Amino acid sequence: MAAGARVVLLGPPGAGKGTQAKLLQDRFGACQISTGDILRKAVAEKNPLGQEASQYISRGALVPDDLIVNMVAARLKEKDCEPGFILDGFPRTIPQAESLDAILQREGIALNAALSVRVPHDVVIERLAGRRTCRNCGSLSHVVFSPPKKAGVCDRCGGELFQRDDDREETVANRLKVYNDQTAPLLDYYRQQGLLKEIDGVGAVDDINARVLAALGGAAK
Ligand code: AMP
Repeated sequence: MAAGARVVLLGPPGAGKGTQAKLLQDRFGACQISTGDILRKAVAEKNPLGQEASQYISRGALVPDDLIVNMVAARLKEKDCEPGFILDGFPRTIPQAESLDAILQREGIALNAALSVRVPHDVVIERLAGRRTCRNCGSLSHVVFSPPKKAGVCDRCGGELFQRDDDREETVANRLKVYNDQTAPLLDYYRQQGLLKEIDGVGAVDDINARVLAALGGAAK
């Protein structure tokens, strides 16, 4: 790990964190770490992590902190994270945020910013209902707002698009409750550290990206 963009993205499911994380990754040459993508891959591979995690993911609950923290700590050591990292979906609890601080402190580096993408409840529901995820690269599209050129096929890599089980209505309500109860307190955590930036996450992807870049300002290089 070295100097560069070191950013945490915060926001409810469906806020657009994954989409913005991929754009920031391209822009800053940083690695993107989506804990949800890593876990879904582990579930698909049926490896020990996936077998443990699937029971939590399927009901929209959080996977235990120790599993997640070890997974992120290992990923941060990889070479592509040297220029910086965009964390998408991590941290999600105060203990995870404290563990991240400790990991970075050991490396002698610090976060540049924690960026909160704000989106009202009804917009989140509408986005998640139509959201499709690429089985191969994790890219996101929406059946109405950003349909792929060819139905069911990822524009970025040609992979198969599917609807995540946990994007179905029954699970979404629980994911939003978990966000409010366990993740929203991180806003104050980062506000107190002077790292919190907040942007309006409603609108076109490019407009939101312009807001993200303006909010990051000199914070990420
Ligand atoms: P996401 O793709 O970020 O919405 O994550 C999908 C699911 O993976 C979540 O509903 C959780 O079950 C699990 N998950 C992802 N990231 C974390 C995390 N940082 N801590 C605990 N569970 C997580």
